[in-house]
Amino acid sequence: MDHAPHLGAHSTTSTRVVDVLVPVALNQTYSYRVPRGMELVAGDVVGVALGPREVLAVVWGENANPDPRLHNRLKDVAEKLDVPPLKGELRSLVDWVANYTLSSRGMVLRMCLRMGEHLGPERVRLGVRLVGAPPQRMTPARRRVVAVLSDHLLHGKSETAHEAGVSTGVIDGLVDEGTLTTEPMPNAPPPSPPDPSYAQPEFSREQRTAVDTMRALAASGSFHVALLDGVTGSGKTEVYFEAVAEIIRRRKQALILMPEIALTGQFLDRFSQRFGVRPIEWHSELTPRTRARNWAAISAGDAPVVVGARSALFLPYANLGLIVVDEEHDQSYKQDDGVHYHARDMAVVRGHIAKIPVVLASATPSVETEVNARKNRYQRVVLPRRFGGATMPHIEAIDLRREAPPRGRFISPHLAQEIQNAIERREQALLFLNRRGYAPLTLCRACGHRFACTICDAWLVDHRFRQRLVCHHCGFSMPRPHICPHCAAEESLVAVGPGVERLQEEAASLFPNARTMVLSSDLITSIETMRSELNEIAQGRVDIIIGTQLVAKGHHFPRLNLVGVVDADLGLGNGDPRAAERTWQLLNQVIGRAGRDQGRGVGYMQTHQPEHPVMKALIACDREAFYASEIEARERTGYPPFGRLASLIISAGDRATAEGYARKLAGSAPREEQVLLLGPAEAPLAVIKGRYRFRLLLKSARGFDLSDYLRHWLAVAPKTTGNLKLEVDVDPQSFL
Ligand code: ADP
Ligand code: ZN
Repeated sequence: MDHAPHLGAHSTTSTRVVDVLVPVALNQTYSYRVPRGMELVAGDVVGVALGPREVLAVVWGENANPDPRLHNRLKDVAEKLDVPPLKGELRSLVDWVANYTLSSRGMVLRMCLRMGEHLGPERVRLGVRLVGAPPQRMTPARRRVVAVLSDHLLHGKSETAHEAGVSTGVIDGLVDEGTLTTEPMPNAPPPSPPDPSYAQPEFSREQRTAVDTMRALAASGSFHVALLDGVTGSGKTEVYFEAVAEIIRRRKQALILMPEIALTGQFLDRFSQRFGVRPIEWHSELTPRTRARNWAAISAGDAPVVVGARSALFLPYANLGLIVVDEEHDQSYKQDDGVHYHARDMAVVRGHIAKIPVVLASATPSVETEVNARKNRYQRVVLPRRFGGATMPHIEAIDLRREAPPRGRFISPHLAQEIQNAIERREQALLFLNRRGYAPLTLCRACGHRFACTICDAWLVDHRFRQRLVCHHCGFSMPRPHICPHCAAEESLVAVGPGVERLQEEAASLFPNARTMVLSSDLITSIETMRSELNEIAQGRVDIIIGTQLVAKGHHFPRLNLVGVVDADLGLGNGDPRAAERTWQLLNQVIGRAGRDQGRGVGYMQTHQPEHPVMKALIACDREAFYASEIEARERTGYPPFGRLASLIISAGDRATAEGYARKLAGSAPREEQVLLLGPAEAPLAVIKGRYRFRLLLKSARGFDLSDYLRHWLAVAPKTTGNLKLEVDVDPQSFL
């Protein structure tokens, strides 16, 4: 527990006043009086009246000198919640992140308080039971409730309402009528804690060195960052589990951050094979009840290990001792709406504030992390080889200029032959294409009309499974018409280019006896369905997997030995400063799915530019060549981590307003030698949801405080009025 001092002296006769932070889009705190008899410390979660409502808030500090004239007008803190106070380290993190990202402190605090509607472990949950005769007045809603409760057992009240599709008011009505009773629900027994000695594997000699370092790191109990740098399949997970085990033994908490999509059953199963139980999870799909229970367990210190998506970084751990960021290079760690933060970077910040070790794991570290390791700011822990004698996949380019697929097809004869061979060997093949849907563009053969979104600057993507043309930016969709809306020609529409659905069609015609499965985020309705589909694949019930980047992350398919990258050039050359890095990471990850068990993996990359440095580095498996050339380029151009970037994104309902404001904003920038201001320029995605977008890019030296500069600038900049919107993105990952 935190040793938060009790705030203020109680000697004076006047009432204490505290400043509280409310989890809404506000930066400032508000003052409230502390009613006599209420014990409050900094970090306590309280309820306060704000306007007409009572809202949740957190005591941020003592107001030592409240203005006596205001004093009598202040309201009292209404209630104190029965949860442990947010520790100083978490409050500091909130202040730090808000300051760095230029978000309001309230919005950052909100990420710490996502415990759902149910607060606190002690709050008694009410259940309902069917006891009496049916009510006098029966309605369809009441009938459904009675049906749900027909077993006469105790059911959760809100679950019953949910199941019957009624409001809880309907249930209250039935309680008043005597048809139902309410009784407290017995608390679910706490899950048994993970056992650090449950099933420790035998480590190889190379792994043992890394394991020793991991254990020492966890035992050190001080701030220290290690890069666990090992090829795919080298045992990084098994190795960082040893750091986690050490933390459990020391009765502290460990947080494992993962890209949301990698939080699969496979990972949770591996965890329980090692520690005997599943860990506590934290991601967007938890039910409110589980969310509340997990939040309470985490803040009470009853959750030794938490595995979560990026938002788990802001939970109120009672005794956090270690943060692991798995797949640290993953793009999804950056949140691009609300608070624009990068969870990997903020994990390092939290580690620094809390004085605890941080492990970053990746087979393809971000250039930032790689540079930190080269400069010895991070300790590099290397696993150079795959575990158990499996070798790295062999990578070959298929030069599309010489071995083109037939017209209207996307799988070259060479790749098709290799897939055929794999199927005959009863192995699996993966066709990778980072494009959802059937085709990225639909046009009319008669008049050339192209289907575009009416409110975005984007083509409509043909989705055959859903039978609609869909905008990937705003979600707009329409049925695929039979007649061209422009020239009224019939049956004249053609699909241009491939998406995964179209590849499946091609695979089915090339390999009529093979079982195919498409894995793409729009076809996956929940983490649960994805878990079961991945399981099907792992069990070998699929011959050809066709997937978007969803399949690239962390999965282990024992019978998969061939990966075909349908369009290796897709991510290159779109003007994104991170295009080379992303392509390198993505293709390494996806080809790394091959040959993890038997070590006969091979990756084929269909490309028009086999001589591109990224392709060459991939083919030669030359990690060093890639990082050397990329680091050199960043250094030369002053891009991160050798310089700093921030984006300002201006949008409005019409183009002239957005552009006009962007120009005025640029004109108001304080002069500063160390800052280069680029733009305003129309954004590559010029219109989204009917909003016209312009961008400004700021570039500064590495040591310059760009956040501070932005704060001073925005204080004097012309205000946004009407429907103008200004978003600030420090350390942008996306430049669209
Ligand atoms: P990475 O995270 O580096 O891709 P994993 O930790 O997933 O690698 O390991 C790859 C495979 O090898 C997994 O199936 C894992 O269980 C197995 N493995 C790794 N190290 C060991 C070990 N020491 N003993 C047994 N199996 C291991
Ligand atoms: Zn759109």
